[in-house]
Amino acid sequence: MALRKIREIGDDVLMKVCKEVKEMTPRTKLLIEDMFDTMYEANGVGLAAPQVGVLKRIVVIDTTGEDPYVFINPRIVDRSGEQTGYEGCLSVPGKTGTVTRPNYVKVVALDENMKPFELEATELLARAVCHELDHLDGHLYTEKVEGELKNTEDVYEDEE
Ligand code: ZN
Repeated sequence: MALRKIREIGDDVLMKVCKEVKEMTPRTKLLIEDMFDTMYEANGVGLAAPQVGVLKRIVVIDTTGEDPYVFINPRIVDRSGEQTGYEGCLSVPGKTGTVTRPNYVKVVALDENMKPFELEATELLARAVCHELDHLDGHLYTEKVEGELKNTEDVYEDEE
């Protein structure tokens, strides 16, 4: 298990557009393993390669702890509906904000073996897909927050 350093807001690497992955290499395989390790260790549900300083179009997501997905060169090809809720990001520690996203997305991507697949996602998984894909184009959820960015602690207090 190898953890990578999570880059935080203010780091230029998070503002850049990532490059497509052309072939699977041992180095990229290792990157994907490390991204999962880093995401689980930080209790996140998704992580994009630029968050560990690598400008490649790779995202890992696991919203339940039992459904790990790897998305290489992902594209959203269909979307519908709307959901509004709190969102957070491992690159913006201690903060949360309200973001509206589609409630359904269809994604096409390559898996870790560079095999194409299609995924239809709803609710939290759809939100995670939209959030992580934004990272690949240099965007953070903080650009989309409705109202103010809040401290995560305050939000949990409100809900109790
Ligand atoms: Zn994020």
